[in-house]
Amino acid sequence: MGQLYAIGRPPRAGAILSPAAVQRSPAMRLVLGILISCVVGLGAGPAMAQDAPDSTLTIDTTDLGQNLLHARQTIILDGDLCCSGGELALWYPKWVPGSHAPGGPIQNLAGFVITDTEGNTITWNRTPGEVYRIIAHVPEETGGLVIDFTYIANQASANSEGTDVWAGESLGIISPNAVLVYPEGIEDNQWTVQCSISLPNGWSSATAMVQNARVGNTITYEPVSLRRLVDSPIMIGKHKETYQLTEPDETPPQRMHVFSEDEDAVQLSNEMLELFREMVRQASLLFESHPFPSFDILLATTDELPANGLEHRRSSLDVLGLGVLDSPASLTGWNAMLIPHEYVHAWCGKYRRPAAMAHSDYHTPKGTDLLWVYEGLTMYLGEIIETRAGMISPEQYEWDIKMRMRGAALRQGRSWRPLIDTAAASHTLRAPSDTWGDLRRGQDYYYEGSLIWLAADAKIRELTEGERSLDDFCRSFFSVDDPESEFKPYTREDVIAELNRVAEYDWTSFIENRVDTVGSDPLLVASALGYRVEYKSEPPIGPDGSPMDVLDARDSIGLRVRGNGTIRDVLLGSIADAAGLAPGMTIIGVGWPDWTPTFSSGAFEKALKMTTHTGTLRLILRSGNLILTKDIAYDKGPRYMTFVREDGAGDVIGAIVTPK
Ligand SMILES: [Zn+2]
Repeated sequence: MGQLYAIGRPPRAGAILSPAAVQRSPAMRLVLGILISCVVGLGAGPAMAQDAPDSTLTIDTTDLGQNLLHARQTIILDGDLCCSGGELALWYPKWVPGSHAPGGPIQNLAGFVITDTEGNTITWNRTPGEVYRIIAHVPEETGGLVIDFTYIANQASANSEGTDVWAGESLGIISPNAVLVYPEGIEDNQWTVQCSISLPNGWSSATAMVQNARVGNTITYEPVSLRRLVDSPIMIGKHKETYQLTEPDETPPQRMHVFSEDEDAVQLSNEMLELFREMVRQASLLFESHPFPSFDILLATTDELPANGLEHRRSSLDVLGLGVLDSPASLTGWNAMLIPHEYVHAWCGKYRRPAAMAHSDYHTPKGTDLLWVYEGLTMYLGEIIETRAGMISPEQYEWDIKMRMRGAALRQGRSWRPLIDTAAASHTLRAPSDTWGDLRRGQDYYYEGSLIWLAADAKIRELTEGERSLDDFCRSFFSVDDPESEFKPYTREDVIAELNRVAEYDWTSFIENRVDTVGSDPLLVASALGYRVEYKSEPPIGPDGSPMDVLDARDSIGLRVRGNGTIRDVLLGSIADAAGLAPGMTIIGVGWPDWTPTFSSGAFEKALKMTTHTGTLRLILRSGNLILTKDIAYDKGPRYMTFVREDGAGDVIGAIVTPK
């Protein structure tokens, strides 16, 4: 085996350079910088070449109509990078930030060809047992590598949706991590890359990177560190409108770029824009400092791409359906949550992040057990800001919390799997489980994690008689001295120490009880908010006047059914379990003694109500090729868990969501 290149190694004082290293001295690096820039057609002049980047990346989007993205990367091999001929280990980004998974979309490479700057082929092979580590066989005297990528768009895995390449007829998303490699041993905040992108005729783009030049349809950005490049998706499209979310003299400046296939859809009403401006204001009032010198929200409203979102330090990626931004009334639920959530991540997750997730490369495995902070606190703060900004009503927020508490109480997998394990095993839970999801659990550190922070907020307010709140924790924990600074890692102990500075308490046990304990009481938060649980025979009514889904009968017979009659979940130990029902079976008829030969939520609810008279629920089921009839002995009718505020209890949620 040849010698592996030593990369990023600090030079030793008085070291004698080998002839090869002398040849690749800074002067040689300058020459190669110019050469490679010209080779890849960046058109860069001497000014850029003086501080030639370590790498260039030219992205060609003109074949995206065929679901193919082309890119060419150059890597300069200089004295630091290359000591002698041999093997150079190149990594394709594996743990891409924000995905919390070793799922860099390497399976979509449809072309990966390495040559030297003269066009001579460089052979390569993978490291046995590590498909993301590619070994290039580089002859001595090789001054640089040129790597051509062809990448298949629109083929994301569950773990790469936010860090992949998407293309519609009118717009697209380019995640640079999909079409680059980096040499083993470099540090991502030290190694520089200059990126350029060629767009289809008439298309625009938006990214947090700063444009250096535009020639025709090719935009060149200022060189950035690999860390910033990987953190800077580029949204492109036929129709774009940019809106300022801050006042002209306000710092940091913050903008929203809206893309769509519909040129009218990018024109947001003042009413809509005011919501996003208020979101920015409420975040400023909450955090009181910003971890970015400027911020760009990259927002697509489209039916050409699936809904999507990912956090970045200086931008956020948000994809919503067409029509969602038509009016404040059409911005509801997950759609209303997404933009504030990804925005808050600039503080929580990008600036401050768990120490075991803070690395200078993309191949060191990440420890994700603090995702109940990274995602759980972001979920909590995002929804608080969303409500304070008026994007949803306080009544809607309270309803969502009640439904979330009920969901946690019915999450059967809590009996074997503590919340921390949903974080530690995060990427194995990204894709939902079509069957037995309550038993398996999902990425519960998001929603259940947010309840932990709601409980912490309520506890701080109780301990300090309303003088302090989680807002005080956020101001200090996320305080920023320099918006350009690198990320600031934290541990669980740091979180506990900061909570104690705000309000002294046994936060260690508070967290252990909720995060580490199997079968912890899911309704601790309900009592902290002043609610008691009651079971009622009528479904609770939401703030929009519609009742809770009556097909969710987990409170009565332990069954949850989809709108088409397919059983989604069965609680073990319930009436439904005793009857042998299983997820995946489909209810095709319901009732007793007469039954309707079709399934509807109305027929299901009526049959459940009738059990108080008949004592039997008849279900006709299709299971594979079998038709089954189940006569289930049950006489209690529908039951629904509801949360009722205790007499004299204060309105904790109302106090939390009051705008600043
Ligand atoms: Zn998130």
